[in-house]
Amino acid sequence: MRYVSTRGGIEPVTFSQAVMMGLATDGGLLLPESFPQIDATTLQRWAELPFKALAVEVMYPYVGEDISRVELEKLVEESYASFSHPEVTPVVEVGDLRILELFHGPTAAFKDVALQFLGNLFELLLERSGGRLNILGATSGDTGSAAIYGVRGQERIDIFILHPKGRVSPIQERQMTTVLDANVHNIAITGTFDDGQRIVKELFNDLAFKQEYTLGAVNSINWARILAQVVYYFYAWGRVSGGDVDQKVTFSVPTGNFGDIFAGYVAMRMGLPVERLILATNRNDILSRFVNSGVYQTGEVYPTISPSMDIQISSNFERYLYYLMDQDPAKVRALMDQMGREGKLEVPAEKRAEVAALFQAAAVSEEETRDQIRDTYAQTGYILDPHTAVGVHAAKEIPGAICLATAHPAKFGAAVKEAIGVESEPPASLQGLMEKETRCAVLEADAAVIRDFMKTTLAG
Ligand SMILES: *Cc1c(COP(=O)(O)O)cnc(C)c1O
Repeated sequence: MRYVSTRGGIEPVTFSQAVMMGLATDGGLLLPESFPQIDATTLQRWAELPFKALAVEVMYPYVGEDISRVELEKLVEESYASFSHPEVTPVVEVGDLRILELFHGPTAAFKDVALQFLGNLFELLLERSGGRLNILGATSGDTGSAAIYGVRGQERIDIFILHPKGRVSPIQERQMTTVLDANVHNIAITGTFDDGQRIVKELFNDLAFKQEYTLGAVNSINWARILAQVVYYFYAWGRVSGGDVDQKVTFSVPTGNFGDIFAGYVAMRMGLPVERLILATNRNDILSRFVNSGVYQTGEVYPTISPSMDIQISSNFERYLYYLMDQDPAKVRALMDQMGREGKLEVPAEKRAEVAALFQAAAVSEEETRDQIRDTYAQTGYILDPHTAVGVHAAKEIPGAICLATAHPAKFGAAVKEAIGVESEPPASLQGLMEKETRCAVLEADAAVIRDFMKTTLAG
């Protein structure tokens, strides 16, 4: 499989090149040249596989030229051994709800599914090339800790993670800053997550710096992350349909960067029987506004009780735009130019209809989120984290929808307690964090400042 850029400005690259490149060198995002097509017989067979075996099946066509099946099996085995649930991503029935629990990894959020894999993948590719990598990423809370846990202690990697100071939950902050391995560098920036994301993009676009320091990405702009997330859509369908290919399912996905839901889109394009994708945002509603109006326009970022979705620029959106605009890089470039000039872009009317046929979008308020946590708890005793509650609320009218549970409720204990008066029992991985030693630099939200810090740190 070869990978191309949404902006059409690079020669096709291999899987390992795409993983190492992160953002394409022309400023676009990398995508496979085509989607492997999964026929009905294969789908039926896949429905019976345990998670790890399924992961190998789903990923192999995307990596096959670069990574042998045996290597992939080993990567998958190592990556998901750190999950505390034997099924890795189980589907649980909670009253009328179907919850796809994605939070059984070491940092208790769904991002572990992709980042445990990506960390091991980087290690394999670097051992092979003899190279080093400096990972740079911005986090709204969960990516940072998941990425840090994915690569902590690795010899060929340094990791720099920017988080918006005071805007991530205390547990999220602790999960990152208590990792004291010498290769882990936490930076609290005095700004928002979008500032962090902008800085990361800027530094990746500084090609001289990027090359000299071999920067790598862990944000959901990295194709390998999307790929790892495609797996659980197939897995959940298998659990719910029992392999009946006529049974289409709807997924409800709490979304910020359009990463997780884009993985669902990829699964659908591969042939997974998907009825609809419910795109659920919190008050930061750039994506739900897009689905409902065809206009993609940034707005102010509001802090909410689902902070991992406090985003008004979605870094994976361009991937979807590429398919929506008939895989024509010129059209993508024109729209992204418009975005750059005017702070918004608009797709043609016939495209709006296409968007509306697949996605159903809702922006869920803080009050609705709390009410959902309270109602579900009252009816079933099951505790939703605020992100998951956003998705569950958005799926209210759709019985049987599979709601992605993106974080363990103990990770957002304060919001949960406010809603239902009790906190959820933390998993082992979250215990004792508040007592541990921490390390973190506080810096201005400015690309030049961050670049200098990285140079100084790496020289030392
Ligand atoms: C990152 C995150 C999301 C949003 O995922 P995207 O891929 O950015 O859409 C939702 N919930 C939680 C708990 C997260 O950490």
